[in-house]
Amino acid sequence: MSTYPDDEQAPEPFYYREDGLCFSCQPNCAACCKIPGRVEITDEDAARMAKHIGVKTDVFRKKYTRIKDQLLLKEREDGSCVMLDKNDRCMVYAVRPPQCRTYPFWDEILANDFTWLLEKGFCPGIDVGKNYSPEEIDAIRKNQNQTEGY
Ligand code: SF4
Ligand code: SF4
Repeated sequence: MSTYPDDEQAPEPFYYREDGLCFSCQPNCAACCKIPGRVEITDEDAARMAKHIGVKTDVFRKKYTRIKDQLLLKEREDGSCVMLDKNDRCMVYAVRPPQCRTYPFWDEILANDFTWLLEKGFCPGIDVGKNYSPEEIDAIRKNQNQTEGY
């Protein structure tokens, strides 16, 4: 498990050399929500999302979650996240899980400038729009803040 960026022995993250990084999620994209993968959530996340869409937590859990090692959001047959509506908008965007709130400032994407560049080929929101300072990025990586919505 990475202790980055708390580990004082770790090298300075590359984004400190670049005065932070730009990112703005693009409306009508949803590319990252359509990729098969694991969206990990907690009991509190499930309760928050249930309240947001106006259903009881147990109903939400039955309809939208599954357990594989831990609580996850379900995927549709095509691999897309079950929380996408028919217009490709996230039904729980305002209360989306931490994994979604902190993208693209994930350890594996921020490993170096090359991994950041690689992700840019996938996410059209990378390197455009709002500039996040190194300190803001660190706070998001520690789940103390989140990226701005669209
Ligand atoms: S984070 Fe990037 S890939 Fe995901 S919806 Fe926003 S712009 Fe698209
Ligand atoms: S919860 Fe919302 S933002 Fe997160 S993957 Fe699902 S649709 Fe996308």
